[in-house]
Amino acid sequence: MKNSASKICNSPIELVQFQNQKIYIKRDDLLHVDFSGNKARKFYYFLLNEFPTVKKVVSHGSNQSNAMYSLSVLAKMKGWEYIYYTDHLPSYLIENPQGNYKHALENGMQLILGQPTPKREDIEDNETLFVVEGGRQAEARVGTKVLAQEIKLWQKAKQIEKLNIFLPSGTGTTALFLQKSLLEIDSRYQSRVYTVPCVGDSAYLMLQFKELDENVLNYPLIIKPKKKYHFGKLYRESYKIWLELQHEMGIEFDLLYDPLGWLTLMDNPTIFSEPTLYIHQGGLKGNESMLARYQRRYGEDI
Ligand SMILES: *Cc1c(COP(=O)(O)O)cnc(C)c1O
Repeated sequence: MKNSASKICNSPIELVQFQNQKIYIKRDDLLHVDFSGNKARKFYYFLLNEFPTVKKVVSHGSNQSNAMYSLSVLAKMKGWEYIYYTDHLPSYLIENPQGNYKHALENGMQLILGQPTPKREDIEDNETLFVVEGGRQAEARVGTKVLAQEIKLWQKAKQIEKLNIFLPSGTGTTALFLQKSLLEIDSRYQSRVYTVPCVGDSAYLMLQFKELDENVLNYPLIIKPKKKYHFGKLYRESYKIWLELQHEMGIEFDLLYDPLGWLTLMDNPTIFSEPTLYIHQGGLKGNESMLARYQRRYGEDI
């Protein structure tokens, strides 16, 4: 296992231009061919450590989640059985497996449909690891700390005294642990984390932070989106900015979180008063199904 763990290493940082702003991008989408993005960071603890008695991993969540897919890769690397609880599967997905769902099945994921959400205390034992939906748990600190160290080292090498960092949030685990770790390393170089809630509103995200850390000083700054967005719904402006990002930078971003991330970042140009780093959190396997939906909805009419 040490070999595959060491393959998850320092992702590159690129300077790009978008809508006339200069922006650095942390390419966590390039961490590893199969195990990338923020789920690779969050699950790094499990990759790094040996679990001699463990034979299977159990998790739960939606039928197209990036975490579901990344766990299937981890389970395969570790030789673990992988059981995943989800509340429903739409018939189009059963008939046309695609995206995270398809690739997780190919990696051996066993689905349990329509059962109540499993509880850690009923699942976890010597042979079984339980991973909560989206990886919102303390173990995520280990990999996010490595991410923070990579960023700080780069920031120092570049002599950037104040850095603004932007990333969109789901559970907020990555943003919170990133800010916390950055505050612990070398305070001469400041790094401020900004985030936008993509699942639920700012109050929900605040609650998520609170569950992971009592200390409000460690919290990232939450920026509200310009209007209410429903997670997983299609928006013309989301598709539009996603196409523009690809066109201007030649970088493919995720279609669930990144459009709202970029729309919100570009709506708040004061962030660019300091050098700004956007974190590409991967999730590209999920684009297969999202892109098909967008193309069915809007086609070339954009
Ligand atoms: C999971 C995910 C997020 C959200 O991460 P949290 O730690 O839950 O906030 C953002 N972007 C992508 C691409 C993801 O896969």
